[in-house]
Amino acid sequence: MHPTPLPSSQMPFVDTLGRPLRHLRVSVTDRCNLRCQYCMPEEEYVWLPRQDVLTFEEIATLVQVFTELGVDKVRLTGGEPLLRKNLPALVAMLARNPRIRDLALTTNGVLLAEQAQALRDAGLHRVTVSLDTLRPERFRQLTRRDAHARVLAGIEAARRAGLTPLKLDTVLIRGYNDDEILDLLAYAQGIGAELRFIEYMDVGGATHWSRDKVVSRADILALLEAHYGAVTPVAERGWAPAERFCLPDGTIFGIVASTTAPFCRTCDRSRLTADGMWYLCLYATRGIDLRRPLRRGASAADLKRLIVTTWQARQDRGAEQRLELEALGLRSAFVHPDELRQDPHLEMHTRGG
Ligand code: SAM
Ligand code: SF4
Ligand code: SF4
Repeated sequence: MHPTPLPSSQMPFVDTLGRPLRHLRVSVTDRCNLRCQYCMPEEEYVWLPRQDVLTFEEIATLVQVFTELGVDKVRLTGGEPLLRKNLPALVAMLARNPRIRDLALTTNGVLLAEQAQALRDAGLHRVTVSLDTLRPERFRQLTRRDAHARVLAGIEAARRAGLTPLKLDTVLIRGYNDDEILDLLAYAQGIGAELRFIEYMDVGGATHWSRDKVVSRADILALLEAHYGAVTPVAERGWAPAERFCLPDGTIFGIVASTTAPFCRTCDRSRLTADGMWYLCLYATRGIDLRRPLRRGASAADLKRLIVTTWQARQDRGAEQRLELEALGLRSAFVHPDELRQDPHLEMHTRGG
């Protein structure tokens, strides 16, 4: 008997909601050099066993398999991806894969000044830098590290190296940095970057989350309209998580409204953790172990079959379900710190955001 023929990148396959598999976020480490209060607020963390962390060759093999199934956007993330030793070597391996149209990196920027040029030379297309505040003292309070100047230097280095279009991501938290919306927009515009406001999400890791701390899409738009006048939507967002808007002066910015206006119906993203677990949703409580079959010598065809059958059964729409809970008055932090210690895969810093 012949096994079922596999879809190829020319024949996209879809999940139960008709969503294709196109975008893969690859976490290269669960370690981080910051302790952002919306992501890693605890004092102690349980880390992935070192021997489980995939080598660059293993990551490149899995990415190759995914791209042969239609993935054409790959984003390296973490933890903090720039903590992974010799990351440009991995970038160079991935950049040789012609199926990847978009090869990007999300970073907190602390180590970017030292690495931007090497990453660019290795073939990285662009970076997104997380920047939640323009105030060094506030940065220290938000992240428990004194590294604000290094982040700004990293952003500048990325610009000089041509890692563009440069994007800046700002998680807004009421009472912490929501008074900087206008300043952050002006800063981004001044350096030719596009800023995206991210709603504070109740994901694993966000153990201090509460609904009243969320600055919603509606709040952001109301503030900007009061200040600048009409804010107009820019084209269709398609499969992208951010809705884009234009201010009267032409400034373009984005909002990722995962908490109050989820976009699960157009979610073509999945996540590979540093130890090779594949997650179909940010809120998924279980992942699919790809490391074990890979290390046991599974063929590319075997891995493809596992990936295709898993994706075809995908029903995830985690953020929508969180919103449904909110309507019932039952929404609070997604997981308890004890559960996170038992399974660090539930953490946002393991999953890669
Ligand atoms: N360390 C890198 C960084 O911060 O850019 C990459 C990994 S981080 C987990 C990826 C993204 O997740 C960051 O932009 C971060 O702001 C976002 N993130 C983490 N926790 C979040 C939360 N509770 N709500 C919304 N976004 C969050
Ligand atoms: Fe902050 Fe990113 Fe580190 Fe989380 S992984 S603590 S968001 S820098
Ligand atoms: Fe995709 Fe899950 Fe996020 Fe919805 S909650 S957009 S399904 S990752």
